[in-house]
Order: sequence, then structure tokens, then C-alpha cells
Amino acid sequence: MKKEFAVIGLGRFGGSICRELSREGMQVIALDIDEQKVSEYRDIAAHTVMADSTDENVLRELGLRNIDHVIVAIGDNIQASMLTTLILKELGIKTVTVKAQNDYHEKILNRIGADHVIHPERDMGKRIAHHIISNNILDYIELSDDHSVVEVKAGRKMKNQTLIDLDIRANYGCNVVAIKRNKDVIVSPKANEKIEETDILIVIGSDKDISRFEKNLV
Ligand code: ATP
Ligand code: ATP
Ligand code: CA
Repeated sequence: MKKEFAVIGLGRFGGSICRELSREGMQVIALDIDEQKVSEYRDIAAHTVMADSTDENVLRELGLRNIDHVIVAIGDNIQASMLTTLILKELGIKTVTVKAQNDYHEKILNRIGADHVIHPERDMGKRIAHHIISNNILDYIELSDDHSVVEVKAGRKMKNQTLIDLDIRANYGCNVVAIKRNKDVIVSPKANEKIEETDILIVIGSDKDISRFEKNLV
């Protein structure tokens, strides 16, 4: 059975989620208070609804009971975002993901039962910052407040050396969990794996350790 989703708020972020889910063949209900936004998604989403999501009756009548996951992507109107989230959780929606504008907003969303709170601008900012620090850092994913995964180009410093030569775990406290080489992915590489200049390493560790690793080897 196709999974069903609802996206509330069709700004740039919510709109992009709606497009991508629909492109992947998912059933999406797209809801916005703005008529123009709604008509923009008429040919993209399975269903479109023009309504104010802070109106409890509106959400109740939509019959969201069968929906697996609702994404609340209301932008600047923090109050509307919180009220919508609260109503969705009261209606018994299992998974509600909400876009937060700031830390204060995030704190309250967690309190009222949001299952996932996301900060696309802040998180993308961090990733881009790491990318800017070094051209060899391709991606950066935060696992928790103090642990991350980075994707780095091996480059000249690591060329032709094995993991033992570099002694990455002992020297930097980080683990190379995989090596991407052309189309192949070497998962859990052996200690004697020789690194090629064009390899991409997936490295996991604490932010402090990763930052030492980045400074010295990347
Ligand atoms: P992004 O950064 O993702 O582009 P944005 O900053 O543009 O988001 P807004 O435009 O403030 O975000 O809001 C996103 C959408 O949420 C808008 O299309 C807006 O019409 C819609 N929206 C705001 N309040 C409500 C509401 N109460 N019910 C339904 N939709 C709403
Ligand atoms: P350790 O005591 O550090 O776990 P080990 O006894 O498991 O080492 P090897 O697996 O032979 O010894 O690895 C030797 C060294 O090579 C490790 O100390 C580590 O620094 C480095 N190393 C091996 N595999 C990795 C990896 N996947 N990521 C990072 N460093 C590695
Ligand atoms: Ca915005």
C-alpha cells in the first residue's frame, strides 16, 4: 500500500517536501491557507486543501486518521505552527515532523509532542560552513549535540597510506566506517586498506575528534 502523508504549509521548504514525496509516488495531501499556493500544487499532490490548519474542525474533517506522517512547515507564524502541532497530536497522528524557526520554538514543539523537530536553515548552515572550511569536506551530518559523521575526500595527505599508517582511531579517536571508491562502497574497511587520493571517507566521531582529524589530515 502507498504511504500517505500530509504537508501543511507550502512555502519553499514544505513545497519541496511535497514535490519530492509526490515524485516518489507517495500520496500527499498538501494544505495551505493561501489559495495561490494551493493551486500551485494541484497538479503535483494527490489532494490539495485550502484551509487554516489552526482550525481544529478543519483538521478533524480532513480525516487524517490514515495518514502515516504529517509535516508542519508553517514558516514565520510560530503560533500557528505550535497550535497546528498540538491539534495534530490531539487527533492522534502518529508521526508529526515540524520545522522550527528558533530554539525557543523547538523547545515548545518538543513539549507539545512533536515527534521530530527540524531546523533546515541552521543545519544547512552548519553543513555549508564545514564545506567552506575545506574543499575536501563534502558533507557533514550531526548525530547528536556532540557527535557527527563527515564525508571527506581523501586527498594528497592520505594518499597511498593504510588506516594503520595513519592510525586514525588511535590518533584522532575517529572511525572510518566506509570508503567510497568510484562506484564501490567498502563498508567497515580493514586496517590494511590502502587509501587512494580520490577516495571518499565516511568518518564518525565526536565533534572535537573530527575537528582534529579535519585540521590534520583533510
Ligand atoms: P520557507 O522558508 O520554507 O520558504 P517561509 O518562510 O516562506 O517558508 P511562510 O511563507 O511564512 O514560510 O509559511 C509557509 C507556508 O505556510 C505559507 O505558504 C503560508 O501560507 C502557510 N501557512 C501559514 N499559516 C498557515 C495556517 N494557519 N494554515 C495553513 N497554512 C499556513
Ligand atoms: P585499536 O586498538 O585502535 O582498536 P586494533 O588493535 O583494532 O586497534 P587494527 O584494527 O589493526 O588494530 O588497527 C590498527 C590501527 O589502525 C588502529 O589503532 C586505528 O588507529 C587504525 N584503524 C584501523 N581501522 C580503522 C578505521 N576503520 N578507522 C580509523 N582508524 C582505523
Ligand atoms: Ca523562511
